[in-house]
Amino acid sequence: MYYVAKVDADKCAEYKCTTCTLYCPEANTLMFDSVANNAWVDEDRCKGCAICVYVCSDMLNRDCITMTMSTPD
Ligand code: SF4
Ligand code: SF4
Repeated sequence: MYYVAKVDADKCAEYKCTTCTLYCPEANTLMFDSVANNAWVDEDRCKGCAICVYVCSDMLNRDCITMTMSTPD
């Protein structure tokens, strides 16, 4: 088991923001769905660094991303 980032899609969609996707150090991991207007995480690629949580919660005060325990398939 390991920690991965999870985006609250409904809450994120209220902000029309893509900021966290600019900071994730892993390619193709924290992406933005321009149709649904929310960021989302490919949990298989997320390294659990929590930079995105820092960006959304500490920098922007929006609290849309949490770290959750994931169990590999
Ligand atoms: S920083 Fe927060 S509000 Fe902005 S796209 Fe990321 S999860 Fe959504
Ligand atoms: S925890 Fe790190 S690797 Fe995972 S989505 Fe957030 S910034 Fe990217």
